[in-house]
Amino acid sequence: MKRTTWLALFAAAALTACSQATPEQQIINDAAAALGGRDRILAVKTLVIEGTGTNGNLGQDMTPAATSQAFNLTGYKRAVDVAAGRARVEQTRTPNFTYFQGQAPQKQVLGIDGDVGYNVAANGNATRVSNAVAKDRRAEIYHHPLTIVRAALDPAAKLTQPRTAGNQSVVDVTTASGLAFTLAIDGTTKLPARVVSMTDNPNLGDVAIETSFTDYQDVSGLKLPAHLTTKTDTVTTTDIRATKQTVDGDAGDLAAPAAAASAAPVVGPPPATVTVEELAKGVWFLGGQSHHSVLVEFADHLTLIEAPQNDVRSLAVIAKARELRPGKPLTYVVNTHHHFDHSGGIRAAVSEALTVVTQKGAEAFYHDAIGRSHTIVPDALAKNPKPLKIETVDEEMVLKDAAMTVNLYRIAGNEHADTLLMAYFPRERLLVEADVYSPAAAVQPYAANLLENIRKRNLQVARIVPIHGTIVPFSELVKAVPSTASTASQ
Ligand SMILES: [Zn+2]
Repeated sequence: MKRTTWLALFAAAALTACSQATPEQQIINDAAAALGGRDRILAVKTLVIEGTGTNGNLGQDMTPAATSQAFNLTGYKRAVDVAAGRARVEQTRTPNFTYFQGQAPQKQVLGIDGDVGYNVAANGNATRVSNAVAKDRRAEIYHHPLTIVRAALDPAAKLTQPRTAGNQSVVDVTTASGLAFTLAIDGTTKLPARVVSMTDNPNLGDVAIETSFTDYQDVSGLKLPAHLTTKTDTVTTTDIRATKQTVDGDAGDLAAPAAAASAAPVVGPPPATVTVEELAKGVWFLGGQSHHSVLVEFADHLTLIEAPQNDVRSLAVIAKARELRPGKPLTYVVNTHHHFDHSGGIRAAVSEALTVVTQKGAEAFYHDAIGRSHTIVPDALAKNPKPLKIETVDEEMVLKDAAMTVNLYRIAGNEHADTLLMAYFPRERLLVEADVYSPAAAVQPYAANLLENIRKRNLQVARIVPIHGTIVPFSELVKAVPSTASTASQ
């Protein structure tokens, strides 16, 4: 009897030794046990999270550092087909700030099905999103305790770098499909505390997307977080509070709509089309797509107003500018404001040795933007590094020589941004502005303030040259401001 006991003990000890988990496996095993057990996790087919929350306004707030603007989310529903790698978010968002599209709630449908990312518009039309966006949405599926731990339990997953950070145990997880994450679990409860993955943001370069999990609740034999907060770099981009969570309920049809599934993959931004319209001697409107630029010829150099969107657009605009006046160096770029779609080409402009002229409130932002690493998707500046040369405008700056005069003015008190500059050409009576008046837009929430700024400075504007939309007579701006329309007709 005694001998048998010893043998049994020995056998048990040997078994334990053979199956003893590595430190990285132990973290996953602990997390799985805390969430409801390995078998329960592996049995899950679908997850539906319903609730409310907010989306931040990354890159589009009043100042580069501001984070108070957000879209309030109602009717939020995130459905995930765990095994099939499909997910869809449906939500209605309402801006808590003065938004260029107006204050009406907007319904959004954002999906991912394997490699196909798609959006469904209010009219039901589905479009395929870029491969880069699809990749982020594929990663987003694993920004949840259930999906990341389930993926980490897959024998084909690679677990590396077990470590401790404060009260958290941390491990790197590369899924069977090759996506890389860092998972941190709480040292006490062993519940997943956060998941981090790296991605490229065209403006910010290499950024961490981090989702934190709190307020765990019991759902169908599992522990699931009811509060999920996602940061992109340092900015909270999504904050969700679940009011209902359903495991293995009806997740709906999560297959990509046919129109998106059959569409060609979207690799990178569309090729640039740059049209040229001479507005006056030495002033050209460089249009062709959604964001325009203006080229200005001085006696011995050229200045570009706006390097928008991305490398593709801005490098094409810069090339066109040089083609128009090959004999003069293009040396300056004037930035209308810090918003990502208007600053997305600044790094490209710096890579072409242009000096940036911007409102003072955006100076630190450009120092940061130029210094950031873009190793995941190397951009023009990463491939051709140059130092930032920057000149700032407080309230006004006059660019003047024998050939040309351009007055740069800060647009004060506008609800669109605090860093706005407009460019006034006193001789040509042109006014270049971005976003505060876009002719033909359905709503013009910032136009009254623009008109106020023009009148305050007593500018004799004949034509508005917008960064979005077509060039219009000044009277169109006046008409867009209802309370002043009668004044204009006098
Ligand atoms: Zn803007």
